[in-house]
Amino acid sequence: MYKFEEDKLIKEIKEKNPKLILLQLPEGLKKEAFNLVSLIKKNTNSEVIVSGEPCWGACDIALDEAKNLKADLIILYGHAPFMKINFPILYIEARYETSIEFLIKKSLKELKDYQKIGLVCSVQHMHQLETAKKILQENNKEIFIPPKKGFAFYPGQVLGCEYNGLKLIKDKFDAILVIGNDFHALGAALAIPKKVILIDPFNKEVYSMDKKRDLIIRQRIIAINKVKNSRRIGIIIDNKPGQHFGSAYHIKNKLENMEKEVVLLSMNEITDDKLVNLYNIESFIETACPRISVEDYSRFSKPVINYREALVVINDLTFDELFEQGIV
Ligand code: SF4
Repeated sequence: MYKFEEDKLIKEIKEKNPKLILLQLPEGLKKEAFNLVSLIKKNTNSEVIVSGEPCWGACDIALDEAKNLKADLIILYGHAPFMKINFPILYIEARYETSIEFLIKKSLKELKDYQKIGLVCSVQHMHQLETAKKILQENNKEIFIPPKKGFAFYPGQVLGCEYNGLKLIKDKFDAILVIGNDFHALGAALAIPKKVILIDPFNKEVYSMDKKRDLIIRQRIIAINKVKNSRRIGIIIDNKPGQHFGSAYHIKNKLENMEKEVVLLSMNEITDDKLVNLYNIESFIETACPRISVEDYSRFSKPVINYREALVVINDLTFDELFEQGIV
């Protein structure tokens, strides 16, 4: 169902003529590694190394890995450009090819009480945004597609950490329709306190994010309060070039003024075993991907919150302001 754009892949490699390619695939597409390597080797003179490291998002560019291996091109599947990187990168978005018309029609039932709809999608579904808009308009809905903003490469695109386009126009709509997966729809629900409906073309489902949002908000309040009550707090700075959200030093200075003991930590991947080893640090603030603390809540045995949540701990925001302005 994914479009691997083999012609574009080979054409671009021939033009760039790299000696060594580092191929990065998201976890769900890693099974295609062998086929893609075979295709490249059959049609070009380039050698390919597949990165076996996780690739969690468009931010997760294996720059150090490529430099250490002396690769001269990174090919990143499944993502659009995210930020400026001073290294040759070929992005192939891997659009998802399936009809979603029946799912859009199904979403009308969930949207029956809402007339003004903010419409967004993940990069895999950018080509379906206009179809969705047309069907919804034919059913008397007023559609608002947000402008390109922040890390989004296209108008209407959302990432798990990027909803600023939607936030810009949030007064125009009453509900949000997300074409993508649960991760993107939950992000929208945590960014903007309005009705969010997911169209999931992969699992062929349509559902509201209300219940999941309520559960996550309860979890976040618990985690934030635990960090508030900690004496010794670790602030995690991520080494990935695309995962720097907010200022670790701003948080550190404010916490120290509140008589907390603070340790700055550097990590590539934030995992529970690393946090457990830091046994005398009670809780953590991660300034990496803002979704790590949310998605891995049940995996962490110590409280972990993201940068925006830490603003409540240092009294820059109240809980109400955080949930109104968004956890992501
Ligand atoms: S920072 Fe997190 S949500 Fe944003 S692109 Fe990276 S992995 Fe996805």
